Amino acid sequence: MDFRQIVGHEDIIKHFKSSIEMGRIGHAYIICGEESSGKNSLAFSFAKTLQCEEKGMDPCNSCQSCIQADSGSHPDIIRVTHEKPQIISVDEIRNQVVLSMEEMPYKSKYKIYIIEDGQKMNPQAQNALLKTIEEPPAYGIVIILTTSIEKLLPTIVSRCVTLNLKPVKDRDISEYLVNELGVDEKKAEFCVAYAQGNLGKAIMLATNEEYGMLVQSVIKLETNIYDMDMEDIQRAIEECKKYDMSINDYLDLMMVWYRDILMLKVTGKIDKIIFREEYSTIKKQANYLSYNELEDKSQAIINAKVRINANAKLEEVMRLLILTLKEI
Ligand SMILES: [Zn+2]
Repeated sequence: MDFRQIVGHEDIIKHFKSSIEMGRIGHAYIICGEESSGKNSLAFSFAKTLQCEEKGMDPCNSCQSCIQADSGSHPDIIRVTHEKPQIISVDEIRNQVVLSMEEMPYKSKYKIYIIEDGQKMNPQAQNALLKTIEEPPAYGIVIILTTSIEKLLPTIVSRCVTLNLKPVKDRDISEYLVNELGVDEKKAEFCVAYAQGNLGKAIMLATNEEYGMLVQSVIKLETNIYDMDMEDIQRAIEECKKYDMSINDYLDLMMVWYRDILMLKVTGKIDKIIFREEYSTIKKQANYLSYNELEDKSQAIINAKVRINANAKLEEVMRLLILTLKEI
């Protein structure tokens, strides 16, 4: 993996490459973008290029540094890990970054730290990091990846070069799915529409078999929802339970359904909707659902998400949600 394999994000790649060319490498970067949008690939490609023994604008992929980078065992490309899923603690930052950076690189020009999910650093951890990025050694580079920059202290942000990911062009995603992954064009079209410029999301949808089933399950539920009796509802809930681990995706897709109805109502255009193959059902529902009802239904899905993430019981949340969505 290097810059040449990255789809989209031309402006960020250009920024990295020109800073390498001019020999003006920053010591602290923030790469900001949504989940699975390419932050990691960009950070890794930058780190690998900087460390490559050939010192080109792209890594050579054959020196020892490149090989170690690819295998994840480069001693001077350090990924900060954390024990608790939701928090990066002050001790973790202190041990893995602050103290580690006091030691010279093993063999490379730089010592590069990649902090994934930077928004999970608590304020103490961020304060510990602050000292390091205020006065880094010449070899030290910290790259913070984050989905939400507002969770980082302003003092951190002000000392970093911030690079914001932009959505990848639909055409580029589509070409990648069809040409590189062999996805058929019809499926690619849905994936592209759903991913909204997020390549990782499109790939996940295109390649993950469970995800394909999940999409079908949502379509079935939304198509039949107004004709369901209590028994059907129970069956639908049992089916949702199979997707317990991806219930957030399930609810996101339900949201997309109502977004589609709204788009169709507003624009009347089929090319604005994501569930394009379900056009006739969506059109039918668009005819009898009012704007207020659509708003209420979207809100019900948001409420369900909040409750699920607060550990409410899946079965109860889904029952209430389906009953609410059925109402006209
Ligand atoms: Zn190399």
